[in-house]
Amino acid sequence: MNKTVLLNEIIRSYPISRAKLSEVTGLNKSTVSAQIGALLNEELIFEIGQGDSSGGRRPVMLVFNQQAGFTIGVDLGVKAINAVLTDLKGNVVESLTTEWAEADQEAEPKVRAAIDALLGKMPSSPYGLIGIGVSVPGLINREQQVIFVPNLRPDVTSLKHDLENRYDVPVNLENEANAGAYGERRFGAGKDHEEMVFVSLGTGVGTGIILHGELYRGEDGFAGEFGHMSIEYNGPKCTCGNRGCWELYASEKVLWDKYLPGHTVETLQRSLQANEASVLNELQKWCFYVGVGLNTVLNVYNPKVIIIQSRVIELHPMVLNMIRTAISSRVYAQADHSFELFPSKLSDHASAIGMASLAIEQFLQRRMMQ
Ligand SMILES: [Zn+2]
Repeated sequence: MNKTVLLNEIIRSYPISRAKLSEVTGLNKSTVSAQIGALLNEELIFEIGQGDSSGGRRPVMLVFNQQAGFTIGVDLGVKAINAVLTDLKGNVVESLTTEWAEADQEAEPKVRAAIDALLGKMPSSPYGLIGIGVSVPGLINREQQVIFVPNLRPDVTSLKHDLENRYDVPVNLENEANAGAYGERRFGAGKDHEEMVFVSLGTGVGTGIILHGELYRGEDGFAGEFGHMSIEYNGPKCTCGNRGCWELYASEKVLWDKYLPGHTVETLQRSLQANEASVLNELQKWCFYVGVGLNTVLNVYNPKVIIIQSRVIELHPMVLNMIRTAISSRVYAQADHSFELFPSKLSDHASAIGMASLAIEQFLQRRMMQ
């Protein structure tokens, strides 16, 4: 317990002296000294300021050893695999993206190849690889089993087990939007906010919910499936079994297929810069549907911030404004003033970094138990 308090304080405000730690945590000096000795032995922290011969004596300060170990986060997406190698502070040391090829039938070999490539670039450290996390665009239950993956190649059900056997480290699975929410909460646009909803607009629409600073998974781990809420009760049939799901209207896939066929990210960017009326018109129709769903998100959760991950939103600030206007036209005035809409800060890396940060947290917890 004391060790955890001390390590957390060091991570929060290093470099810090033993005296200051004692003052801030209220722990007496002998307790601090004993626990700091243990943390030094474990190489989770190190000292600076010793043996300085040039002029005045510097106080001995303690520093978190963020390179004591490394973690790998993988976002197994429908179109690409995005993987990051991070240190214990969530800094991305290396990253790679592999697009799916038409011939690829299985996901697992691609995930293993991404992990192996990053392992090859991992600096040496006392703990080496401390954990792996993989996010998938589907339902994961509390027992970490993949229950339903509508848009992905079909062999991910035993992923956790297989990867644990192969790499001999703990492996976590999580829904991609939950992972993205967690990443943004820890290291991104949601860092300062306890109540937030993360929305990813890609092939589908994913939402991850942070309540009181923690990821909200619900009873079975399926919470936050706003993408499959009906916004047209008799609309087209969805792969989930429902009709008229929000993601059938507000995903980026729909924008490209229905509203802007023939366009690419590059051509859309040029059209936005040129204020091309016909393109703005089509874009606004899509933004309207994004806003319709977000209105419900606001009414249900009353978050302080909604963070949206979308390539299209990153192209021009106008896109977020269009969505904001769509919300304002429907939501009651009080709610309209109380929330903020942000683009994702971690962008394509949000889910992978979220998985890495989960692994870091669990590693530090395990260390503190010993
Ligand atoms: Zn659905």
